[in-house]
Amino acid sequence: MNEKTYKIYSKFNISDKVLTFADEILTSLQPRFAKIDETAEYNQLKVINAMQECRVSEACLLGTTGYGYNDLGRDTLESVYAKVFNTEDALVRPQITCGTHALALALLSNLRPGDELLSPVGKPYDTLEEVIGIRPSKGSLKEYGISYKQVDLLDDGGFDYDAIRAAINEKTKLVTIQRSKGYQTRPTLSVEKIGELITFIKKIKPDTICMVDNCYGEFVELTEPSDVGADMVVGSLIKNPGGGLAPIGGYIAGKRECVENAAYRLTSPGLGKEVGASLGVMSSFYQGLFLAPTVTASALKGAIFAANIYEKLGFSVVPNATEERHDIIQAVTFGKPEGVIAFCQGIQAAASVDSYVTPQPWDMPGYDSQVIMAAGAFVSGSSIELSADGPIKPPYAVYFQGGLTWPHAKLGILKSLQSLIDCGVVNL
Ligand SMILES: *Cc1c(COP(=O)(O)O)cnc(C)c1O
Repeated sequence: MNEKTYKIYSKFNISDKVLTFADEILTSLQPRFAKIDETAEYNQLKVINAMQECRVSEACLLGTTGYGYNDLGRDTLESVYAKVFNTEDALVRPQITCGTHALALALLSNLRPGDELLSPVGKPYDTLEEVIGIRPSKGSLKEYGISYKQVDLLDDGGFDYDAIRAAINEKTKLVTIQRSKGYQTRPTLSVEKIGELITFIKKIKPDTICMVDNCYGEFVELTEPSDVGADMVVGSLIKNPGGGLAPIGGYIAGKRECVENAAYRLTSPGLGKEVGASLGVMSSFYQGLFLAPTVTASALKGAIFAANIYEKLGFSVVPNATEERHDIIQAVTFGKPEGVIAFCQGIQAAASVDSYVTPQPWDMPGYDSQVIMAAGAFVSGSSIELSADGPIKPPYAVYFQGGLTWPHAKLGILKSLQSLIDCGVVNL
């Protein structure tokens, strides 16, 4: 580290001890970081190639208003996404409000009364419980007469193939596979593993629609689930593929028929993809996708750096310090509330926006314990930006993700460590 950099860290109240400790760990991580850069290089070229082949032009960056007929930017961007994800078609819209909305849209539009939905990878993301009707909710799949079956993962994180075979029946229409562990302790699924699962399911029932919740997984690997047989991949633009620039939005990429169904539900039967003005967001969607591979790489480096720091200090980390990565989320278990709180306060103090506020645990709607959240973001709630949160309940684990640039992710982790030292949870 050069002297100027070393010195400016003192402006952030980061001690020499923390810097020295972190520097040693960073040196050992260089070979892994080089591999992440190689993945980013490939994915960057994949995105540029798609933009070139789809003839993205300056006119695409402008928006439309009103009905949005013949919106060149929107239609071209959807072709770009289809090329990047190696699918027949894609729906990429600011009218898709978030990841949950994109997933709900894909499900509600491709399932019909009497159909059954199967999750062969255990409990889905919290917000999907209400979409499915696991927790009673207005407008859920259950209300529309769509049933749900779930097969949990085995204790070792593997697929319970026997139980999956037994769960598939004549009603099974769609299988939902969540790539990221989200806020659970199970492992995140690699694209390869997802491919094996899809092959198994298609062998039993070839016309099953296989959908992958791709949130937090985009551009982490060289391939996407749609390269290994997924009929639909679904995600949020305020996570990886928006590259930190998209201010809103979601995507569904997949088989033409699946995407068409989603479009007719998002807008209206008869209208489908033909309407939906892009307003002023197109240039941030394009530029965000352009940046997404390197932004994801930065977040990935941050996650691995955090895992190595906190594992070395004796805390349990998931994934661990050396494991392969398939998403950008890092969990660290502190075993006491003070740890979760100090970590999140450190992350907040590293933000460019709202760095001066001190997050506190609060009773968030929908949670059964208090939750603390650190999110000093340019885009509200964006979790591709440096962010962390944790429920104030045993085992007192914090979930950390994001960082639009590697230096920022690094600063966040150093600040979290300093904050833990300052409040006496960690002794260096
Ligand atoms: C974030 C996330 C969602 C939901 O996305 P929101 O934008 O928060 O609605 C769904 N599934 C997974 C795995 C996620 O990480």
